[in-house]
Amino acid sequence: MSDRVALRTLFLHPPSFEGFDGGAGSRYQARREIRSFWYPTWLAQPAALVPGSRLVDAPPDGLTVEQVAPLARAYDQVVLHTSTPSFGSDIRVAERLKDENPRVLVGMVGAHVAVLPEASLRAARAVDWVGVGEFDYACAEVAEGRPLGTVRGIAYREGGRVRFTPPRPPIEDMDALPFVVDVYRRDLTIEHYVIGYLLHPYVSLYTGRGCRSKCTFCLWPQTVGGHRYRVRSPASVEAEMARAKRYFPQVREFFFDDDTFTDDLPRAEEIARRLGRLGITWSCNAKANVPRRTLEVLRDNGLRLLLVGYESGNQRILNNIKKGVRLDVARQFTRDAKSLGITIHGTFILGLPGETHETIQETVRFACEVEPDTIQVSLAAPYPGTALHREAQERGWLSGPNEDLVNRDGVQTAALEYPGLAQAEIFDSVETFYRRFYFRPRKIIAIAGGMLRDPAVMRRRLREGAEFFRFLRERRASLGDARVAASSAGG
Ligand code: SF4
Repeated sequence: MSDRVALRTLFLHPPSFEGFDGGAGSRYQARREIRSFWYPTWLAQPAALVPGSRLVDAPPDGLTVEQVAPLARAYDQVVLHTSTPSFGSDIRVAERLKDENPRVLVGMVGAHVAVLPEASLRAARAVDWVGVGEFDYACAEVAEGRPLGTVRGIAYREGGRVRFTPPRPPIEDMDALPFVVDVYRRDLTIEHYVIGYLLHPYVSLYTGRGCRSKCTFCLWPQTVGGHRYRVRSPASVEAEMARAKRYFPQVREFFFDDDTFTDDLPRAEEIARRLGRLGITWSCNAKANVPRRTLEVLRDNGLRLLLVGYESGNQRILNNIKKGVRLDVARQFTRDAKSLGITIHGTFILGLPGETHETIQETVRFACEVEPDTIQVSLAAPYPGTALHREAQERGWLSGPNEDLVNRDGVQTAALEYPGLAQAEIFDSVETFYRRFYFRPRKIIAIAGGMLRDPAVMRRRLREGAEFFRFLRERRASLGDARVAASSAGG
């Protein structure tokens, strides 16, 4: 890329629902049980390619539309990151930006517009172009002032019509991408990013994109990242982490947000050895099939926690969603990790194809048996562009005509239902799952022990506990509203 910047560019993760973790880094966008924010890495990366740009992440900074809209006056281009749940409100932010500065060029990037470029441009009159596929270099080329028709990998508006440029091949030279930590330091407030199971403050970034697995529900590999794990070299990762350590001495943990950091075991081990020399504490996403000898290398070199997508405790459901993991392997992996002292945050999804009342109970029992340290339970979310979405459309599983993934407060809805398993039962089972997992004597003792050992942990867990119960109350109230609305409509 050249250093020539013709358009002063603002990268914006717009405000939407209060506390909405829809950032360009979040895998499913919604308000969480406890206040959580992932880093906007997918926006920071193109921002790092555009000299003099600025990245504004409105939700963690608590910024409102009224506060961010006037920023448009100081820029020639604003690039917004959008998601399916927030698309409607992101359009309104784009309109407000144009109200403030009618000459500003507005681009939109993210999985939603990558999958639905034409429909998105037709729905969003204030948006001039959208990224189709990986958008880092497209953003940079538009910022250089190149005519939109010459920038590969976008759709744009011209004379009332939507036009497409030729596709842009996936980025192969990942080391050519500049470090995102420079943008983090320049534009973000590190302390505003919180994830319940990570030490605070934390920093997350990617060392590669794509995942070899083909899980039917999973957003990034099926939309922007692809099914090859395209990676940065271990030396490049080490250099960025050394810089991050220097920039952020207050950070207690670094998280590698690659879809599956353990997809390439020899590389994961080599990076671990380099991180071990840096003396940092780190965590990553992993599939539940990492062999013990690799876990040992990672643990010996600073690995603290693995974020593991178990999804279900029923093998038929895992097969239906093409998870590519056997339950017996997941059990062995979990025993190994725990015996090595590695903390596990396990994620589960209710309402996947094949779900029944019995399989929900089976998954709860499986979670209690393998006993991750903490869990997250979410509802199956059929994002446009995923195989799950296509399957749900074909088989009539979508529970509402609008395909809403969140309610008016940004909380996940049960978007799927099946013959014999109503939307309401899937929705309610999330709370039951949490209660049955956490309200067991051994779990309560473990949590209380951690709190008593460390006053900071005590303060944090008490706050999170209050948030958690408030979230459950609001969730129940929102379902009550939906049921009243449904019965009135039907009635
Ligand atoms: S292994 Fe994880 S990241 Fe990869 S496709 Fe499956 S859910 Fe997505």
